[in-house]
Amino acid sequence: MNENIFTNQNIHDENQNGEKTIRVRFAPSPTGLLHVGSFRTALFNWLFAGKNNGSFILRIEDTDRKRSKDEFLQSQMADMKWMGLNWDEGPGVEGKHSPYFQTQRLETYSQHAQKLVEENKAYYCFCKSDDSGSEKESGEDNEKQGKQTCSCKNLTKDQVNELKTQGNQACIRFATPSEGEALVRDLIKGDVPFDISLIENFVILKSDGIPTYNFAVIVDDHLMEITHVIRGDEHLSNTPRQVLLYNAFGYEPPVFAHIPIILNEDRTKLSKRHGAVHLLEFRDRGYVKEALLNFMALLGWAPKDNREILTMEELVEAFSLDGVPKHPAVFDEKKLLWMNSQYIMTLPPEIIAERLAPFIEKLGFNPSVKDADWYITSVILYRERAKTLVELAENLACFFQETVEYDPAGVKKHFKPEILRSAMPELIKRVTETDSFTIENLEAVVRQYAEELGISAGKLIHPIRLAITGKTASPPVFDVMVLAGKEMLKSRLQAAQSFIAELAQE
Ligand code: GLU
Repeated sequence: MNENIFTNQNIHDENQNGEKTIRVRFAPSPTGLLHVGSFRTALFNWLFAGKNNGSFILRIEDTDRKRSKDEFLQSQMADMKWMGLNWDEGPGVEGKHSPYFQTQRLETYSQHAQKLVEENKAYYCFCKSDDSGSEKESGEDNEKQGKQTCSCKNLTKDQVNELKTQGNQACIRFATPSEGEALVRDLIKGDVPFDISLIENFVILKSDGIPTYNFAVIVDDHLMEITHVIRGDEHLSNTPRQVLLYNAFGYEPPVFAHIPIILNEDRTKLSKRHGAVHLLEFRDRGYVKEALLNFMALLGWAPKDNREILTMEELVEAFSLDGVPKHPAVFDEKKLLWMNSQYIMTLPPEIIAERLAPFIEKLGFNPSVKDADWYITSVILYRERAKTLVELAENLACFFQETVEYDPAGVKKHFKPEILRSAMPELIKRVTETDSFTIENLEAVVRQYAEELGISAGKLIHPIRLAITGKTASPPVFDVMVLAGKEMLKSRLQAAQSFIAELAQE
């Protein structure tokens, strides 16, 4: 191979590492809530590890000290745990490569940078950028201070020592080879060549001892024995620098796989303006984790048989980087909504029931006034009417309210004073004083009474529904009566009775 070509040697084969145990990592920066794009990256890594009996490592890239916050870290880790993306090594799961926080690894980066300096592959740079005093002091990735203009590279060891003794601050820059090509061999993007002459002598260690991203990432990926780097394709442009660093150290680079960006349906970048972008927001909107996981896995990947609904186990089984195309993935929230409704319908009702409490609470009600059985019954009755847990909770709100407001169209259509003014007292008596408060018996009682009155059963059924729920549509009314319970049924029918009495006077 031409000696001016710097590359990762990967051939386009996922199994090129032969006997090596697969090790992948997700390396978020705790500078915000977990974005769906980052989550998708984490998920692809996790699925890849799962499929290949590998290890999934969580590494926290917290070198941006100003923007990194513990609350973001906690929230991101909570999101991952919520989704079932547990890590084999990382915070809380110490392994042989601990610590997993970059700010706890500064000594390691410093040693590695020194090594490159000793080998003349990096050098101290004392130049100050224009805004000295700020974070950029000592030239942080500033093109102007790049290899074209900076002469610090030519300083002798003695000169460097002298300048340091005088108290001058220095960063360490990589001495990028002057020409040639950095060829990134990527599993998804193919071979992507970069012209090295356009790459400046970039900073690897800032004057405050903090490594830059490109440097820390290769030191860590190497030391943590990462075999595959699967990450968003916004990092592809960083990769030639990383390839150069791997070459400088003589380390074997990992296999790179840059996964396509996620766009909105209108092909714009996923942004807050279009709606939710953080995993947390989707949870708050009542999406269940099974649907989110399934949906996110299909953002830029599809199983060979094009199945759309896959459990976590099925996803692991089917996952392969082969199925990841080069083109962007499109975030179709309608599809997510559809998928969510499928999961709400098919997940065991106990599971859905267990997750309802926070949504009931958000509506301002105390969820604990109902027991577990009540929730399970209500889920079975109402789940086909709700695409999200929020909608499900909204449908159930009437069972937590003191009173309900009636749908005006329903009032007009079903609250007929000429029938109900006289029928209501007896109806209330019969449905609440029956010995057996069951669906079957309530149905028999209501139908029997309608028959006695010489009216169709609907003339009683619709008003009962409206009285309990305030709405004209609901699951089968006798089920709803039982769900309301005897006491609530009584008070709702009494309220309707008074309402109808007033109607009659108008
Ligand atoms: N901390 C980087 C990010 O959050 C990680 C990039 C990488 O995976 O190399 O984008």
